[in-house]
Amino acid sequence: MPTLFALVLAAVLAQSSSAPAVPAGDAASSAASAPNVGTAIKETRPEKPLRIRVKLVKGTIVAGMLASWDDDAFAGDFGRIEWTELTPSEFKRLFDKLMDDRDASHQLRFAELLVAVGLDAPAESAWKKATSIDPSVKPRVAGSREAAKAMRKARLEKERMEREGAVQDFAEDGAAPRWPVLTDAERDAALATMREDAKRYSAMAGVSVEPIETEYFILVSELKPAETKELQKELDRMYAEVLGYLGVDAKVNLFWGKAVIFLFATEDRFKAVEAGAFGNPMVGRPGSGQVMGLCHMMKEKVFVNSWQCPDDALFGSVLIHETVHGIMHRYSTPARLPAWADEGFSDWVAARFQPGPVELARRAQAMQYIRSGGNIVTVLDMNYRDGSWPGQNALGYAVGYAIVDVMMRQAPLKFEAWLRKVKGGTPWEQALQDACGLTKQQLAANVARFFATRD
Ligand SMILES: [Zn+2]
Repeated sequence: MPTLFALVLAAVLAQSSSAPAVPAGDAASSAASAPNVGTAIKETRPEKPLRIRVKLVKGTIVAGMLASWDDDAFAGDFGRIEWTELTPSEFKRLFDKLMDDRDASHQLRFAELLVAVGLDAPAESAWKKATSIDPSVKPRVAGSREAAKAMRKARLEKERMEREGAVQDFAEDGAAPRWPVLTDAERDAALATMREDAKRYSAMAGVSVEPIETEYFILVSELKPAETKELQKELDRMYAEVLGYLGVDAKVNLFWGKAVIFLFATEDRFKAVEAGAFGNPMVGRPGSGQVMGLCHMMKEKVFVNSWQCPDDALFGSVLIHETVHGIMHRYSTPARLPAWADEGFSDWVAARFQPGPVELARRAQAMQYIRSGGNIVTVLDMNYRDGSWPGQNALGYAVGYAIVDVMMRQAPLKFEAWLRKVKGGTPWEQALQDACGLTKQQLAANVARFFATRD
């Protein structure tokens, strides 16, 4: 039972997760900063320097003497700050104070910047004022509106890229190459590619259904609409929950475009896509048993292929387990967790949503091993590379799940800190020492002690 999807998975992971050579660090520099568009205002100085105290979107306060301003920014002893860096209400207040109300160009620029920061209604009244002050600016309003729209798009893109870039900040030693942060245009192209792949690959199974998209996933489903809807909601909830464990804003889409999830009605179709799309013949793997789902990490792309086995809970559990692999692959860097944590965390998350199958397959086996004095360090040392994972009767899965369970019950924040270090490229045992103050022997002893008296 525990080996149902385990063994084949290990093989596939080993074959398809080659790390991409991604240049680190320069992702943000490719971000489109606010384009130099719209109504120009040359450098203007207030009659006398103005003392200001304003709040920026990122939360910091800027205070000092404002000496000059123009269409893009204001400057003073605090440096130069772009208008769109201010919170919307602070922008409105300060610009309104500095501008000449009777200058039509000032009104046009005010309107453009108001739209850029998301204040549409006051922008309309500024455009109206501009044309009533000077009817000859009327022909300029259409261009002014276009500029405003472009500025808003650029601001949203910049904020998104900063949010995504922040997910990677911890990989400071650069040991693991980070996934690049995509511009809007790159993201659109990535999404188009994933949509195409979804269609092309499902055609290999003779399936042509209209994919359903959520914020993070493209679902190609042959299931009944109500079943698909249920799984879709569960996947979205799971995504948000996992990002919470990682300490990441759930608004961040970690995927390249989106992850493609195949939910086929039959095993044959699942296998057809395995063979056709992923070069996985699904034969000649003695002892692998029946496989219900697999995650394929093709450099930056993530695909989960699955078929609806008769056991709904098991199907849901496999789906979540595999999708967690995809999320972890895309979390900051492609660096792999050690096998016990890679599989243990996927099972642990799956158990949060579908407790039955994981508990059934893992818990009793783990308790039996640990309580009879089995060596937990042996499991910590198992790895995909030398074929020692997952051990006899897939022992690694059972004990890996138990270890993650203890870590998450006792100190989830330390587990998060440990994950970050490993994803940043620190060897896992070193990271365990740094983040949790434990050697692997101490971790093993801790787990044995925990389960000596508890389930
Ligand atoms: Zn797995």
